[in-house]
Amino acid sequence: MLGPPGAGKGTQAARIAENLSVPKVASGDLFRDHQARDTELGRLARTYMERGDLVPDDVTIRMVMEWVEAHEREGGFLLDGFPRTLAQAESLDAMLKNLGTPLERCVAITVDTDAVVQRLLKRAELEGRADDNEETIRERMQVYDNQTSPLLEYYGNGGILATVDGMGGVEEISERVKTALSGS
Ligand code: ADP
Repeated sequence: MLGPPGAGKGTQAARIAENLSVPKVASGDLFRDHQARDTELGRLARTYMERGDLVPDDVTIRMVMEWVEAHEREGGFLLDGFPRTLAQAESLDAMLKNLGTPLERCVAITVDTDAVVQRLLKRAELEGRADDNEETIRERMQVYDNQTSPLLEYYGNGGILATVDGMGGVEEISERVKTALSGS
């Protein structure tokens, strides 16, 4: 699942994973879990996350690869928020090629930036996430534009990109995602 912060990736990822009965993981959740357990990786990630910057590729890739290795025999899986850079995408491709299970689809959720900032500010109030303040939100948007949006072209060229309009109600968007996933 690809999309800017606040696009509703997490909500849709949970629904798809349930529909398809496959395990899913969000890289942001893995980092937050490490922080909660106060691991070395958690402490490293915190400095980047608090600024709204990406955690360095090497540790991010290693962390997600470990998750993939632990879950790749469960009939498929869904990744939310990973890859977020070209280096991450290339590492993932290489690993999945080795496992003989290439990536089948990249679902990209598109949204209106202003609407997303409003959504995130609301989430900040409701959930009190440390990185949901206006300055960090703007930085995360910038990081998405600079480092993650090139993946749209990468997966478009790979012929596996499905773009879904992320504006609207949760149910409505879920239907769009389902349609996008069922198409060839
Ligand atoms: P959002 O999509 O709203 O930014 P996430 O929970 O996906 O929220 O990510 C929160 C933070 O975790 C990011 O700002 C970044 O610091 C870190 N992070 C998550 N996924 C990655 C990734 N694939 N590569 C590098 N950093 C990541």
